[in-house]
Amino acid sequence: MSRFLAPRLQALDAYTPGEQPRDMVYTKLNTNESPFAPPQAVIDAVSAAEVADLRLYPDPTCRQLKEKLAATYGVKAENVFVANGSDDILNFAFMAYSGNGVTYPAISYGFYSVYAALYGAAAVEVPLKEDFGIDPADYFAARGMVVIANPNAPTGIALSLDQVESIVAANAENVVLIDEAYVDFGGESALPLIDKYDNLLVVRTYSKSRSLAGARLGFAFASPAIIADLEKIKYSTNPYAINRLTLVAGHAALEAEDYYKNCCAEIIKNREDTALKLRELGFSVLPSCANFLFAKHESISGAEIYAGLKQRGVLVRHFSKPLIADYNRITIGTKEDMQRLIAALQELIGGRK
Ligand SMILES: *Cc1c(COP(=O)(O)O)cnc(C)c1O
Repeated sequence: MSRFLAPRLQALDAYTPGEQPRDMVYTKLNTNESPFAPPQAVIDAVSAAEVADLRLYPDPTCRQLKEKLAATYGVKAENVFVANGSDDILNFAFMAYSGNGVTYPAISYGFYSVYAALYGAAAVEVPLKEDFGIDPADYFAARGMVVIANPNAPTGIALSLDQVESIVAANAENVVLIDEAYVDFGGESALPLIDKYDNLLVVRTYSKSRSLAGARLGFAFASPAIIADLEKIKYSTNPYAINRLTLVAGHAALEAEDYYKNCCAEIIKNREDTALKLRELGFSVLPSCANFLFAKHESISGAEIYAGLKQRGVLVRHFSKPLIADYNRITIGTKEDMQRLIAALQELIGGRK
């Protein structure tokens, strides 16, 4: 740290992204990326001609992409915001709406507490229920903005649309942000509610279900007034935040919805098959609506499972937070990826008996 850093940033605990080690080839089940390549339409869209056009700035309004998203999801372009990854949208929302504080689950996406600290927001971290679910009633008299990942991470547990609506309706004086990074793997989207509630902000990403984590593209749906707020912040920070190649890739991806539906169906199948096998191996596994499983072994610690898997070339995500230290979050990959996981676990667990 230099002596020049603003005092309010000196104690900031930055977000820790999942590790990307280069020492060997791992079966990478630690950052919830898709195991599938983007569809050919996306690869073709990022053409030599588009690369040659990189001398020009991208369209700061992202008009074509917004219109395509609007058509795809049955909303108006004025209900759509796009940004450099959904993390950017979360950042903007915390910047804009956390002035009266922010309330989110105590176990959820690690970035929420980082943004709260970054903007000096009073944060209320609501404990999960004993079964790791979210009780909507805990958010009916919430302080400030409410942020909920649905399905939640790292648990994978989803709220129903009715439950989400009850939270949005009970917080009419504050923005309720529903982070739907994993909704395509079995959750119910709150998108149908945006016309009814002007305080609802639904955040999505191309990073998980659309195989474009490296392109950095997030999008959001809300009332035109909320979208205008986010645009104001974007134009006050970095109007060209989405590069030309990502704009064309994001547009082309929306013409390959069938491809992505098949990818999601395969991941859901692999998830259910893997959950069964994990249970046979002595794990308890939370019911997941996401592209990962959150699992704890009956007798081996989470840290030991994590280390034993890494040694055997399989990377999963372990969080050392006390309540969840016994668990690991396991991204669902291809059938072969999951076979490698199970084989590594059999060896690890068998070796200890
Ligand atoms: C992965 C993830 C994000 C971030 O997605 P990007 O679009 O890649 O920035 C946001 N929220 C949750 C809950 C996530 O798991």
